[in-house]
Amino acid sequence: MQTRDRSQSRLAKRRRLRAGLMPLAGLLSVGLAAIVLMATGCKKDAALDAMDSDANGYVCLKCGVKLYTARSVFIGPKCPKCQEESLMDVVGYYCQKCQHLTIRARRGDRHGAVCEQCQQSLANAMRSPREKDLKAWGATKTSP
Ligand SMILES: [Zn+2]
Ligand SMILES: [Zn+2]
Repeated sequence: MQTRDRSQSRLAKRRRLRAGLMPLAGLLSVGLAAIVLMATGCKKDAALDAMDSDANGYVCLKCGVKLYTARSVFIGPKCPKCQEESLMDVVGYYCQKCQHLTIRARRGDRHGAVCEQCQQSLANAMRSPREKDLKAWGATKTSP
């Protein structure tokens, strides 16, 4: 009797275990499907996002003016405000943690980019800022 009891309780244990795992497995497969979907759906977008944008952002290292132009328009290095040749194009670094894009001049950065909000290093998070990012950053639209 003892062996039977034990095997029964083992069976019950296994059943409980399986019952406990089932929803988890379901969740996992749903999560996986979502990740696969997102990966295939967003991969193109993310790649496009990183390389392409709908605007060009600029910052003047002399007077600090923040500007952006349409994607097909390029200005600089002469700053339209202070007339110095110190207008730099900018690049963004995206912090996943803060969901915040830190925008700064592309060149003249000896140290890796750091998130403005959490100070985390964002070395591999370069992303072209888009018009809305540049606007949020405080840039005004300009044309040559
Ligand atoms: Zn300037
Ligand atoms: Zn951050």
